Amino acid sequence: MPRRLFGTNGIRGVANRDLTPEFAVRVGLSIGTFFQGGRILLGCDGRVSSPFLKSAVAGALLSTGCEAHDAGMVPTPALQYGVGHLGMDGGVMITASHNPPEYNGIKVMAADGVEIDRGREREVEEIFFEGRFKRAEWNRVGELRERTEVLEVYREAILGQVDVGLIQGAGLHVAVDPGNGVTALIVPQILRDLGCGVVTVNADIDGRFPGRSPEPRPDNLSGLSTLVRASGADLGVAFDGDGDRAIFVDERGRVHWGDRSFALIAREFLAEHPGEAVVTPVSSSQVVRDVVEAYGGRVVWTRVGSVDVSRKMLSEDLKLGGEENGGVMYGPHQPVRDGAMTTALILEILARTGKRLSELFDELPRYRQMKDRVECPEELKGRVLEELRSVVEGPRVETLDGVKIWYPDSSWILVRPSGTEPIFRLYAEAKTEERVRELMEEFKKLLEEMVSRV
Ligand code: MG
Repeated sequence: MPRRLFGTNGIRGVANRDLTPEFAVRVGLSIGTFFQGGRILLGCDGRVSSPFLKSAVAGALLSTGCEAHDAGMVPTPALQYGVGHLGMDGGVMITASHNPPEYNGIKVMAADGVEIDRGREREVEEIFFEGRFKRAEWNRVGELRERTEVLEVYREAILGQVDVGLIQGAGLHVAVDPGNGVTALIVPQILRDLGCGVVTVNADIDGRFPGRSPEPRPDNLSGLSTLVRASGADLGVAFDGDGDRAIFVDERGRVHWGDRSFALIAREFLAEHPGEAVVTPVSSSQVVRDVVEAYGGRVVWTRVGSVDVSRKMLSEDLKLGGEENGGVMYGPHQPVRDGAMTTALILEILARTGKRLSELFDELPRYRQMKDRVECPEELKGRVLEELRSVVEGPRVETLDGVKIWYPDSSWILVRPSGTEPIFRLYAEAKTEERVRELMEEFKKLLEEMVSRV
């Protein structure tokens, strides 16, 4: 095992192979040592392995002298909201988000409910690898408490962010697909509070995910599309396993990818807050930029990763962020991805405009997207990127995360070194199929040629 614990999305692995109880205890001891006897809110998703991993982490936290406040089974954004609202020193969430059923993971939150930054991850890792665990005296160990109010506090917080009367007045019908994940615990209830009629599919919590993969994608939401059309719903919404991402289906049953729903929310937000900035990773669609600039706002780009977006929102006091995978961060509520909050915002847009969801999506510009990869040994990545930077000078270039090049016809290409594989990931977007293909082919050839030469 490499001397890293945290990947792009916290600590992840296969339950009882990578994430054994012994491993979880050592991680828990490291987290407890890091927080030095603080109050930690602990929660888990509905995976089969979550209870044993949560118990192992809880025991370890208590042993270091931390108080473990157990929120039980909750969506990740509910736990994150609870950390701030209940004045905790930190939080731990047992979840593997959208990964396959055999996986699980451990996410660590700071006192503000946002995942700890890379620097603090390193500190936890050092404690872990050096085995530098603080163990409290027998009479100084922590207490275990139940915090059953977290879901309720979260529900009220979301309702407090939208015009409940306006949405209730619209009498919307919503088809919900929690994908056998934990949003089943709270989203249908929030929708009923908002006066919506609710029908569901895959709404029993089952950590084997029998209904569909816990990652909502256009190719696995046919059940939801069918339900929307069969029930005459105004919209459908699908969540990932732990409820921080939401993907929408219009009343005609069409699935829309997350950058388009984020663009709708950004447009509404800028109409109310003219000139504000919107934060998104460099891999996001041009549709976000088009909408933001058309409404007099500005885009603040970040590296790819939701924590980068959240931390940017906090450091520059910005109110809205989002990713193309359906993760929207609405700062007035909390600067982290939140699927239920995103849903409430879309309902408010429908109620305010009186338009159909298909009409709203059809108002947005359309782009063609392509993704591809080019192999490159790890040790050559830096030199290839450097060379790429030197040859693409001229057009608008952004080098926050790999190299992104914009062209005057609104097309762009992004070349990013993968953090986990010996490859470059290529993302391209353009108004036409021909143009996006042409761009992709040009850069694949260029990169392959550079890799073989360098
Ligand atoms: Mg997730």
